[in-house]
Amino acid sequence: MEKLIDSYGRQIIYLRISLTDRCNFRCIYCSPVEQKFHFIEHEQILRFEEILEIVRVAVEMGITNIRLTGGEPLVRKGVTDFIRQLRMIKGLEDISMTTNGFYLSEMAQSLKGAGLDRVNISIDSLDREKFKEITGFDGLPRVLEGIEAALKEELTPVKINVVLLKGINDDEIDNFIKLTIDKPVSVRFIELMPTNDVLKGINEERFISAQKVQTEIQKKFENIKHVLVEKGYGPASYYQLRDAKGVFGFITAVSQHFCGECNRIRLTAEGNLRPCLFSVKELELKKKLREIPLDQYGLRNE
Ligand code: SAM
Repeated sequence: MEKLIDSYGRQIIYLRISLTDRCNFRCIYCSPVEQKFHFIEHEQILRFEEILEIVRVAVEMGITNIRLTGGEPLVRKGVTDFIRQLRMIKGLEDISMTTNGFYLSEMAQSLKGAGLDRVNISIDSLDREKFKEITGFDGLPRVLEGIEAALKEELTPVKINVVLLKGINDDEIDNFIKLTIDKPVSVRFIELMPTNDVLKGINEERFISAQKVQTEIQKKFENIKHVLVEKGYGPASYYQLRDAKGVFGFITAVSQHFCGECNRIRLTAEGNLRPCLFSVKELELKKKLREIPLDQYGLRNE
């Protein structure tokens, strides 16, 4: 089968799959309580069998890495069994997940057993009240337990995603960096991206450039060294404090695009292929897929 090579000659090896549009958190910059959501109807969401079919074809076309995301991937029922089936697809080298970590303390062991390789955990504040303010949910203690569970089950490298929010968590950057002293985690400070029109205001008001944060950190902490990170492990360059177990870095999706190194495509929960995060162009896969009789997936029509 033809390989996925884009018009710039880049081989696409990374597929990011949104398993659901539902989330148990209501982050102010992503899905705030005030925003009225129109969730995708259940029958419009890709079934696991359909996702597996897409992945099988994608792997033949050169995809080796899958990241499961959402919404919140761990709120989708049957996710562990789905990962077990995903793991059986020959040619897949790496299965990772981006999660808010809330259900990880109870699920990390079974996820690892099913074949999940590693997790990225999103956490924008280490202060319980502020965490509640950002996510709309008093979930910090459980997310912290989730990080411990991920480390214990070796869902590694465990990456911690922190979206930089001016006036909200920019006073906590030092605390996130200090987290890397004792824990072998990779903390990634992520620039807030402009998303839809409803969130444009808040996302512009709260934006801080990673460059600014980086300059301040370099002034504050001595003995920071730049560390090289294996290629293909995400668009972040990393730093390390002397004797620290973990590293920290920056994802500059807004101030410095890393399009030239992009090797990924996205599959939305409703079954559209999205080649670029900054484009609204999508390719409908579900419609085509649903023209195939279900017995081809080993299922019967209901
Ligand atoms: N629910 C999961 C989680 O919280 O990690 C997965 C989905 S969430 C959309 C994936 C990541 O995107 C999270 O780290 C989140 O903070 C980040 N994110 C969402 N909206 C963003 C924005 N406007 N700018 C930058 N990062 C954003």
